[in-house]
Amino acid sequence: MPPDTAEARRYNRIRRWLGIGEFAISLALLVVLVITGWTFKLQNLAYMGGLLQSYSLALFVYVIMLLVIGKVLGLGMDYYSFRLEHRYQLSNQKFRGWAWDEVKGFLVSAILAAILAELLYFVIRQFSQHWWLVAWVGFLGVVVLLAQLAPVVLFPIFYKFEPLQDEELKLRLVRLGERAGTRVRGVYKWHLSEKSKKANAALTGLGNTRRIILADTLLDNYSADEVEAVLAHELGHHVHKHILKSIGVQAAVTMLGFWAANWTLHYAVERRHIFVSLSDFANLPLLVLIFAVLSFLLMPALNAFSRFNERQADRYAFENIASVAPFISSMNKLAEQNLAERTPSRWVEWWFHSHPAVARRVAAAEQWDKPNTH
Ligand SMILES: [Zn+2]
Repeated sequence: MPPDTAEARRYNRIRRWLGIGEFAISLALLVVLVITGWTFKLQNLAYMGGLLQSYSLALFVYVIMLLVIGKVLGLGMDYYSFRLEHRYQLSNQKFRGWAWDEVKGFLVSAILAAILAELLYFVIRQFSQHWWLVAWVGFLGVVVLLAQLAPVVLFPIFYKFEPLQDEELKLRLVRLGERAGTRVRGVYKWHLSEKSKKANAALTGLGNTRRIILADTLLDNYSADEVEAVLAHELGHHVHKHILKSIGVQAAVTMLGFWAANWTLHYAVERRHIFVSLSDFANLPLLVLIFAVLSFLLMPALNAFSRFNERQADRYAFENIASVAPFISSMNKLAEQNLAERTPSRWVEWWFHSHPAVARRVAAAEQWDKPNTH
């Protein structure tokens, strides 16, 4: 196991701080809006000083303004991450392509956020007593719908996909599936190389959109055995129903979030008289803040759950490929290609990593390979 280069350490440290910085900026924006009361100024602006009569329209304008402010504040860091990928020779994307992606990303999130906000405040107005339970059920519906639509609607906005043509690989996948008593409906080639030099693979979708996507940067540079090892890992996620389980965990977290939101809103309205009513949409920053803080606090637990799933998928791969050697070599290649840290510090892994450290995954594979231990 080669040690991490100073370059890999530096790159990952900068990326971590960028993530923390972006989170801190959004948090600061939300806190400032609530504490200074600027959220009411923004709300007045959304009503255009009374010119606009419609609640829903004003809410829409308010959400868009909030997103624009957030985007402007974060744009410097977004550009810095784009430059960072180039500085470390990890990107194939030109400035124009990046800028276009930023525009598309903003539009997609604006549409989603506007729909969610309209639905949320509609529910608050209709079910003042149990709005948080109704909103939670509605939110779950949206999560399931998005998980299903993501591979066919959302991802293609940013990347091109095509069904895998490689006959040998397809045959290997069918055999893997047969051994597992399962069938994956589709394997797609993910045209990642237009933007990045990194390699990746994932299991995506739900029900009839369930599929494995493999980056062309992986297909072009890895041996058939190595690609099969990656496929087996993704198939492990499928067999162990990890997407459904993640949605279940998310359901529990958002239920807690909506409960806390309800408690806080009642407190802010009835005890502190900060807002006129629960449906006063000037309280939106407070609502978002609650979910942001909650997901930050739960990050170590959610990442631990994710790492548990990854280990399970790895074990599934060990059981179903002829030899773990190509798994180990694919891990090492991925770490090198993506400039990942193979041995991050314990607390960095604990807090930030959704996957076990590469060194640990390789060690687990070697352990598996030892005779008489299984
Ligand atoms: Zn995985």
